[in-house]
Amino acid sequence: MYTTLLVRYGEISLKGNNRPYFENRLLANMRQALSDLPPRRMEKTFGRVFVELLDDLEAVSRRLKRVFGIVSMSPVLTTSLDMDAIAPAALAVLNDTPGKTFKVQAQRPNKRFPLTSPEINRQLGAYLLKHSQGQQVDVHHPDRLVQVEIREKEAYVFSRTIPGPGGLPVGVTGRGLLLISGGIDSPVAGYLGLKRGLELTGLHFYSFPFTSERSKEKVIDLCRVLASYSGSFRLVIAPFTEIQKSIRQNCPQEFYVTIMRRMMFRIAQAVAANEKALALVTGESLGQVASQTLQSIAVINKVVDLPVLRPLVAWDKNEIIELSRRMGAYEISIRPYDDCCTLFVPRHPATKPPLGRVEAAEKKLAIEELMADCLANLETITITADPTEL
Ligand code: ATP
Ligand code: MG
Repeated sequence: MYTTLLVRYGEISLKGNNRPYFENRLLANMRQALSDLPPRRMEKTFGRVFVELLDDLEAVSRRLKRVFGIVSMSPVLTTSLDMDAIAPAALAVLNDTPGKTFKVQAQRPNKRFPLTSPEINRQLGAYLLKHSQGQQVDVHHPDRLVQVEIREKEAYVFSRTIPGPGGLPVGVTGRGLLLISGGIDSPVAGYLGLKRGLELTGLHFYSFPFTSERSKEKVIDLCRVLASYSGSFRLVIAPFTEIQKSIRQNCPQEFYVTIMRRMMFRIAQAVAANEKALALVTGESLGQVASQTLQSIAVINKVVDLPVLRPLVAWDKNEIIELSRRMGAYEISIRPYDDCCTLFVPRHPATKPPLGRVEAAEKKLAIEELMADCLANLETITITADPTEL
């Protein structure tokens, strides 16, 4: 019955010149999210986006629930600015929404409309009581609201409001490079980065044959989940086996993790330059493991100039898991394949690695050569979401 989906987006945070940029990006992202469905009209007017529905409300809203920047959506009936047109539409909406009681709630941004909002409420309430069967008004706890919005050119009548994911449209804040493992945390950090409008490239360090082909598939599957929020997702896979071997042969055990992380960050910075990414994004959370003490983070961070965004820095594990489930990554993250880090964690990693000693230990590594070798053998894949699985 509904022919239009009214989409609301975050207006409050939009100031001046940013606004058209934000809106155009949002529209492009919405088009992309719906690109596997039949083409349809989509237009932006008065701070809303209107999406034509082709009897496919469920499919459209399911996809748009993953488009950041959208605050909420309502399937609406559009009518002319005339109570004789609005009233039957209100009745149709009432009949379409289950319940025994209702309340009419009108909004009138268009002040040229001859009736005030309370007058509209009263007239429509009376009309609905007269034309519906056994319905009652309940102004305090109605089973449903029949809402009417009187805009410049049309009126919208609706009852249902579907929440959107909020945030900013992917792409409006720039590009970041997400260091993604097969674990629980980094995909969640990626989700939060996308939600703040970052466009992300993923970077995964892969240690074949220490880690199996299955662990790589797992990371690709996690990127597919991220792609369902960002349209598509580019993943760079960096071979890490030789670097890990060299660390094992040449460095003291207690610093394995610190040095491994420093190598990851150095390579990440080089990949970020290729990708024109302005920041690294990681799933680190303060104090979670030995390499995430403040001292470790400081020593690891020393090797890069780029800002490192750590969206989960203050999150508890259970909070991270909760979002991991909601975003659809958890079942993939808990598949049992090891990633390269778990394999190399010594029993007693240093929790307060002194910078001087770490730097001295690293002198045994051919850092430039190892990096050049890794960077010459990157593999890049572009991952798109499967809309039928959303
Ligand atoms: P995650 O759950 O994301 O694996 P974690 O709690 O296991 O995180 P660490 O293993 O210390 O923590 O990793 C910290 C961060 O380093 C990860 O969140 C991720 O951003 C990055 N990282 C770890 N391993 C890899 C890898 N193999 N490839 C790319 N990035 C990695
Ligand atoms: Mg991990």
